[in-house]
Parts: sequence; C-alpha cells; structure tokens
Amino acid sequence: MRSRPKGNITIYSEQVNAEFEKVCEKYQRPVRDINEQCWILMGHRGRWSWGCKYDLHTEGKPAAVAFDPDYVWENRDKIIGWAHTHPNMEASPSNTDDITMKAWCNSLGKPLLCCIDGKDGLRSYWYMDDESQPIEVRSIRIRSKIYGLLP
Ligand SMILES: [Zn+2]
Repeated sequence: MRSRPKGNITIYSEQVNAEFEKVCEKYQRPVRDINEQCWILMGHRGRWSWGCKYDLHTEGKPAAVAFDPDYVWENRDKIIGWAHTHPNMEASPSNTDDITMKAWCNSLGKPLLCCIDGKDGLRSYWYMDDESQPIEVRSIRIRSKIYGLLP
C-alpha cells in the first residue's frame, strides 16, 4: 500500500466540517484519532463478481472522501472504486459520498464501487451511473483484498 504526499487532501463543505466537530465532541476523542481513512480500490469486475485490493491511501475527515484526481485518471482502467471508513458511524453512503461517486461515474464513464467500513462492519455499494441510487451487494474482506457480487 502506497502513501501519498501529505497536505493535499480535499475537504468538502463547511457543513461537513461542522458535522465532524460534532462527532469529535460526542465521542470526546481527539481529531486525529477519528479521521476518515480512504483508499483507492484497484481490481477486476467480472460478469458476476468483482475483486480488488487496497491501493493509494489518504486521510480525510468523516463524511468527506479524499482522493487524488491525477492518480485516479492515470489509473482509470484498473480502478474499480473507493473504500473509506466512517469512524463511529454507520456504513451507509453520505450525501457527500453520493455526490462524489456519481461525479466519478460520470467522469470515468463506468460503474464504480463504494466500500464503507463503519460501526456496522464493511458494506459495499455499486454506483451504476451518475443518476441511479447505489445498490448494496454482498462482500467479504480477506486481508488487503475485498471480494463481492455484482448487482
Ligand atoms: Zn462516507
């Protein structure tokens, strides 16, 4: 797993930051302990199933998804989606996740996977295009790889 250079993380709106402060306060934990972690997922999408491994790692804030647009574009053929954590939250896509995933589907012109690790475990969603709602599928993590079914 490679680490990207620090100091270039995309943080979304004021509202996201406000939500983040609330989460910190609620759990009385320092900011650094509950930062959202994000990985690009590289792998293969077959006819019935998919498999991928964790690739480039970034650290952001809860409810924000961090990424590196240049790296994504360079590796667009191998990328099948993103994985990120929801520290102390359920593993359901946030509005920000939704907007980001749909934008990337549109930009890369293919369905993309969104795996979220939350307090209810790892859950995986396929965004088939930039308009329809994500579809949750069964998935399993084995070490640094995740395997699952297609919708
Ligand atoms: Zn999220």
